[in-house]
Amino acid sequence: MKSGAITDVPVAPVSPRRFEEVLGNDGYAALVPEIERASERLRDRVVWHVSSTARGGGVAEMLRSHLSYVRGAGVDARWVVIGGDAPFFEVTKRLHNNLHENDGDGKPLDAAAGRIYEDALAAAAVELAGIVRPGDVVFLHDPQTAGLAGPMRAAGARVLWRCHIGIDRPGPTARGAWDFLRPFVLEAEAWIFSRREFIWDGLDDSRVWLVPPTIDAFSPKNQDLSDDAVSAILAASGLTGSDPVAPPTFTRTDGSPGRVNRAARIEADGPLDREASVIAQVSRWDRLKDPSGLLEVFADHVESQEASLLLVGPDVEAVDDDPEGAAVLAEVRAGRLALPEETRGRVHLVSLPMDDIEENAAMVNAIQRCADVVVQKSLAEGFGLTVAEAMWKRRPVVAGRVGGIQDQIVNGVSGVLVDDPADLPSVGAAINGLLDDPRRAGEMGIAARERVTSEFLAIGRILDYFRHIEALID
Ligand code: UDP
Repeated sequence: MKSGAITDVPVAPVSPRRFEEVLGNDGYAALVPEIERASERLRDRVVWHVSSTARGGGVAEMLRSHLSYVRGAGVDARWVVIGGDAPFFEVTKRLHNNLHENDGDGKPLDAAAGRIYEDALAAAAVELAGIVRPGDVVFLHDPQTAGLAGPMRAAGARVLWRCHIGIDRPGPTARGAWDFLRPFVLEAEAWIFSRREFIWDGLDDSRVWLVPPTIDAFSPKNQDLSDDAVSAILAASGLTGSDPVAPPTFTRTDGSPGRVNRAARIEADGPLDREASVIAQVSRWDRLKDPSGLLEVFADHVESQEASLLLVGPDVEAVDDDPEGAAVLAEVRAGRLALPEETRGRVHLVSLPMDDIEENAAMVNAIQRCADVVVQKSLAEGFGLTVAEAMWKRRPVVAGRVGGIQDQIVNGVSGVLVDDPADLPSVGAAINGLLDDPRRAGEMGIAARERVTSEFLAIGRILDYFRHIEALID
């Protein structure tokens, strides 16, 4: 429901019992008493999560699956999204870039930026304060919502700020963004970061929690798909020309059947050749994900003259809080068009429709599954959910040793980490190594699946989540 400055995002409850499939009966049974105790404890409270977009990007992805299990566990968890005008999202994108030590649009985080930020959040603060009750718990996600911490405290809520982004070695630009945000962030009672290196200076360590992100094994993005379903979804998306042998179907989060009905917007000279190797990167169109760099790696350093490259991202019109998407896609497009004809013919730019978020997820699922090598060439990365998603699908992943990616991949065992992702020949060599040795690639895929199963599945973190909330309200 859209009420003006904030929008409710409905989340269908899913019983955590689902995880018996992964954890086994005993593993799941061990969780049940704690889940029941927590839901009883939180019975009279609403746990709010506030973010700046319901689609596109890791935060939306994680909230959707995490909250469905929290709701399924009997807790009244809700998700609301704040709106904002173009100047607000320009400032927040600048914050996002600066927090990664990147200049972004090059403009300053000065008093004028501060006014834009605070003014845009004022209406959301009033609306939220009208529905949040004293004792409720409010999770604010990322820089976009940090300015709501003070107003939510004033409304009597217990407030946490969760920062999903960060950089291993912050410099003056990142620290400048911290200084801009610090007065807002300090209003929260606790702070959550994805990794220790991301914790800001000057926060009381006893109120900082570390929570790595997780993926949902059963969501349309990660659920098992048969080879026929993968082929059918690729064909329905418009990527391949083949006649599908099965319908392009998947299972929706609520258990109902889903079907891929829409085609992707594809910039290619012809259909994808599935007989040859496929290299894929799925990401928002963001310079820090470096799709242009991967294009260059493919053109200049990938030895195979048959492999295809899929650069995949969301329809740039659809991601509300990312004003740079269209410009980045345009850069990649120009790079592709400048390639020699033969190479260009093996590069496919794919913009996925976002009208139905689960249909979009099923397309990502099929694309990751059809890849022989998944790349995440990010120059900086808070976590990089796409890495865990591909690892879960037993894909060998090549990625930079940056941010949260290095927590996921054990180099040489469950994927390949390239020390400097800006070093194009090294990225190319890592891809070549996997394409040339399918057996090693297959073993890495199996190890990758095991690593995600033990470390990065949503259910593994649900008890931590309850414990944190309880620690706060105690
Ligand atoms: N994603 C998607 N559709 C797309 C492109 C990306 O659903 O067309 C998802 C991707 O599968 C992942 C999330 O967006 O779940 C991106 O999260 P990540 O942590 O990799 O990066 P972020 O976008 O948060 O920087």
